[in-house]
Amino acid sequence: MLTVFGSTALDTIRTPNKILKNVLGGAATFAAISASNFVKTGLIAVVGKDFPKEHQKILSERLDLSGFTIKEGKTFRYDGKFDDTLSTRETLKTELNVLENFKPIVPEEYKKSQFVYLANNDPDQNTNLIKEFDKVKFSMCDTIDFWISTKRESVIKMIKSVDAVVINDEEAKLLTKEFNLIKCAKKMMDWGAKYVIIKKGEHGSLMFFDDVIFPSAGFSLEDVVDPTGAGDSFAGAMIGYLASKKSTSLSEIKKAVVYGNVLGSFAVERFGLEGLLHLKKSDITKRVNLYEKMIRF
Ligand code: AMP
Repeated sequence: MLTVFGSTALDTIRTPNKILKNVLGGAATFAAISASNFVKTGLIAVVGKDFPKEHQKILSERLDLSGFTIKEGKTFRYDGKFDDTLSTRETLKTELNVLENFKPIVPEEYKKSQFVYLANNDPDQNTNLIKEFDKVKFSMCDTIDFWISTKRESVIKMIKSVDAVVINDEEAKLLTKEFNLIKCAKKMMDWGAKYVIIKKGEHGSLMFFDDVIFPSAGFSLEDVVDPTGAGDSFAGAMIGYLASKKSTSLSEIKKAVVYGNVLGSFAVERFGLEGLLHLKKSDITKRVNLYEKMIRF
């Protein structure tokens, strides 16, 4: 079983063609739903009393929700705007609401999880949560500029407490204060991460382990409508795949990165979570095969 912890949100997404308000989002939501294509996934998250029933239904149909809390107050809200290229996003608002000072309770049956993903969330909460798991074989975290700007030292502490960091290129630079991605990765490895995966949006990713660098292309797409959650879908697929294989061998990690690229590509083809909600196993396999064909030479 895989446990995912992090934000479940009501997102406002502004793209040049469409504005969506209060749609189901959140880093942990995307990651957990993406991972659920590979393995049974439990989501630990908190929402407020305003969280719509239909959103909860979407989650409960796909995920184990015994660690999901509904608290008095408002759900975490995120508001972001993409520019015309759809590759740069500006954060307009981050309202923590019930996420602030949340003290999650880890269900007993989750404590045996060997694979744990700490999605984008308050780094202090993430660092505390991982201590509750005593059989972890592989843990991974992500972060975003909001936390790097407000709690940089806590982000570094969180990195020390996990095996792998998955982070996008701009955030890696902001966090490490380096400009070269290899230097960024080395710094995060010095802080204690064994694996560093730097996501480069539509351009794919770089995975670092010891002195190995594994670059992977993004799955080339002509029509992108909303990149929200692509990074989270990438990470969820990666750790979901590894959990399904119960392996952290380097060759499986490389395959996991490919699944990450593929699930990220499905996420950007529709608005919000839509790109992930109607996926079949055969869609994933087909695209992985196509990906392999595209990069082979
Ligand atoms: P991504 O597009 O992969 O970077 O992830 C976007 C998702 O992250 C959105 O669904 C947001 O709800 C969520 N998110 C944005 N800012 C934060 C934050 N400061 N903490 C936790 N989650 C966030």
